[in-house]
Amino acid sequence: MNYEFEKNLEKYAEVIVKVGLNLQSGQKLLIGAPTSYNDGVPLECARLIHLIVKKAYQLGCKLVDVMWGDEELRLIRFQNAPKDSFNEYPKWKLDAEYEICKDGNANLFILGTNPDLLKEEDPKLISEFQKAYYKYNKPVSDLIAKNAMNWTVISASVKSWANKLFPNLPPEERIMELWKRIFDICRITTNDPIVAWNSHLGLLRNRCDYLNKKSYSGLKLVAPGTDLVIDLPKNHVWQGGTEVTLNGIKFIPNIPTEEIFTIPHREKTEGVVSSTKPLFYGGILIEGMTLEFSKGRIIEATAKKGNKVLQDTLKIDEGAQYLGEIALVPHSSPISKSGLLFYNTLIDENASIHIALGRGYKTSIKGGEKMSEKEFQQAGGNSSLIHIDFMIGSGEMNVDGILNDNSIEPIMRKGEFVF
Ligand code: ZN
Ligand code: ZN
Repeated sequence: MNYEFEKNLEKYAEVIVKVGLNLQSGQKLLIGAPTSYNDGVPLECARLIHLIVKKAYQLGCKLVDVMWGDEELRLIRFQNAPKDSFNEYPKWKLDAEYEICKDGNANLFILGTNPDLLKEEDPKLISEFQKAYYKYNKPVSDLIAKNAMNWTVISASVKSWANKLFPNLPPEERIMELWKRIFDICRITTNDPIVAWNSHLGLLRNRCDYLNKKSYSGLKLVAPGTDLVIDLPKNHVWQGGTEVTLNGIKFIPNIPTEEIFTIPHREKTEGVVSSTKPLFYGGILIEGMTLEFSKGRIIEATAKKGNKVLQDTLKIDEGAQYLGEIALVPHSSPISKSGLLFYNTLIDENASIHIALGRGYKTSIKGGEKMSEKEFQQAGGNSSLIHIDFMIGSGEMNVDGILNDNSIEPIMRKGEFVF
C-alpha cells in the first residue's frame, strides 16, 4: 500500500469513528464487514477495519467486534438450497446486533457488495429471502427508526464492485480507483476532512432550518416523467447530516451524506413519479420505474427491469405501497458531479432527490420517537417492514413548496436550491 493511500485510509477511519459514529468512551462497537472468496478478504478493507478498531479502543471503547459476511455464500445458497427453504434466516446474527443496539452501543455497517451477485437468480426466491430478512430484522430496524443507538453505514472498495464500475481500466487498477472515488465523495482528500465535514454539516443544518421555518404544507415535484404533489404532515421535521440518539449522542447515519429529508403524509401523495437511476435492491437492479399515486397509495407500478421483484416488494405489507421519505439533494453534489453510477444505494441516493417506499422515520415528526405505531400513523407517518430509497432527481427537476393558502414558492430549480 502506498503512502498516500495509507494516509487517506487513516483519515477515513478518523472521520468514521469521530464524525460518523462519534464513539463515546465506555461504548461497545459492532462492525459488519464484507469478505468473500472471490475477492479474498479485501486487504485494504481489513486494514481499514484494523485502523477503526484501534481508534475505537483509543477513544475508550469497552469492546469492539467484527461480524464478517461473505455474500458469495448467499449466491451458493440460491444456486443449491431447496427452493422451499428461503424463509429460513440466520436469526442469531440479528439477535447479536439487537443485543448491542438495545443498550445504546454503536453499530458500523461496511458495504462492499457485488451489484450483479443475484442477477441470474429467481426473483421469487429473492423476494422470499428479503421477506425473511425484514421479518427477523424488525427488532433492529425498530431501534434504528428511533435512533436508539449511534450507527453509520460506509462503503469499502472490493473487487467485484470495482470490476462492475471500471470495466475499461486494467484489472489491477480497479480496486484503487474505487477507493479514490470513495475518498473523494467522502471529503477525505480535502486538507482537513474533519473541518470539511463540519462545514458541510453546517450547510445541511441551514437548509433544514430554512425549510423547518417555512413549514410548507406540501411539495410539488416536476421533471420529465414526474408530476407529483406530496403533502407533508403538520408537525414534520426536516433533518439532514447529524442525528441525535435517544441518549443525546450526535452521529451521522450515512457517509457520504448530501441529503435533507422529511416525511410525506401517508395518505396525501398524488400523481406520477419516474426513477432516474437504477435501484440496487436485494442483489438485483430495478430500472425504469414509474409509480402512480392516489391518496398516498401506489395504484400503478411498473419497472422496465426487475419488475417481478418490485411487484413482490410492494406486496410485503400494506405500508410498502405508501411513501416514508422525501429527500432533497442538489444535482451539483460531489457524487452527482463524479458522473459515476455506483450501483450502491447508500451512495447513489446521495446524488439525487429521492423518495422511499415503506417506513418513515419517527424522528421526522415532532415528538415521533415517543409515539406508538398507531399514533405515528394518525400523525401522518407510515409503518412498514421495508424502507427502500429510489432516485428521482435530475438536472431537470423543479421543486416548489406549497404554503397553507395554496400559493407556491420555488425551492429548487433545475436540480439546485434557490435559497
Ligand atoms: Zn434518504
Ligand atoms: Zn431513506
